Amino acid sequence: MPEYRHILSLSGGKDSTALALYMRDKVPEMEYVFCDTGKELPETYEYLSRVEAFLGKKITVLNDRAGFDHWLKVFDGYLPAPNMRWCTKLLKLKPFEYFVGDTPVISYIGLRADEDRTGLISGKPNLKTVFPFKEDGINYENVLRILEDSGIGLPPYWNWGRTNSGCYFCFFQKSYEWVRLLEVHPDLFDEAQKYEKFSDIPGKSFLWNQEMSLAELRKPNNVQAIKNRFFARQATMKKNRKNKRLIEIFTDYEFDENEPQACLICQL
Ligand code: SF4
Repeated sequence: MPEYRHILSLSGGKDSTALALYMRDKVPEMEYVFCDTGKELPETYEYLSRVEAFLGKKITVLNDRAGFDHWLKVFDGYLPAPNMRWCTKLLKLKPFEYFVGDTPVISYIGLRADEDRTGLISGKPNLKTVFPFKEDGINYENVLRILEDSGIGLPPYWNWGRTNSGCYFCFFQKSYEWVRLLEVHPDLFDEAQKYEKFSDIPGKSFLWNQEMSLAELRKPNNVQAIKNRFFARQATMKKNRKNKRLIEIFTDYEFDENEPQACLICQL
């Protein structure tokens, strides 16, 4: 039998955090890591230090030394997008694989029993990937309960309407989340906006949000329209739901779990 290292990669999101709490006493030799793109939300760092205190173990921060801005130049200004996730490969997966090395490793992923998601995960031959939540039938409500019972709770960015961890400019954000970023972290919104480029040459304009540029989105009439649309949808979802779910009790928001999502390493 090979000797395995046990590694759990935290994203700063609810599922990988719940998994870390769930596995803490089951695998005491677990190594915890966080792949830091250098463009994460400040709340993510705050949350991870809370998690670290609870685990009683250091979370090793991994990063690609070159960083996002270097790779953006290499990609000739092409911002990453759902169909071209160079950011995930270079800033999340590569540092993780470097840390994993070539000895046998079991990698723990927080994919829940009630979801069927795919995404970039490492295919290194020495890496055996396991899904304890899937194996143990842990679903969305169970994850919320694990977080609540531990006292850790949901990541703090949930308080202002963002539901996924990852970079502040992540292109998986919905328009309403961009609006909230503008309101809560105007400096980060400005930074994100600086990355957008416009060109008359087809295929040479690079925007984060496919609906409209951030320069457009921040205009008061667009902010209001996006909010109105969001709250109208919330009202419909609330009306159509028979029972209040745990997530609504904790956050007072309705969440659609079928929306497009980023890779497992970024957002679980
Ligand atoms: S969070 Fe989004 S922008 Fe950041 S690395 Fe992941 S997919 Fe890319």
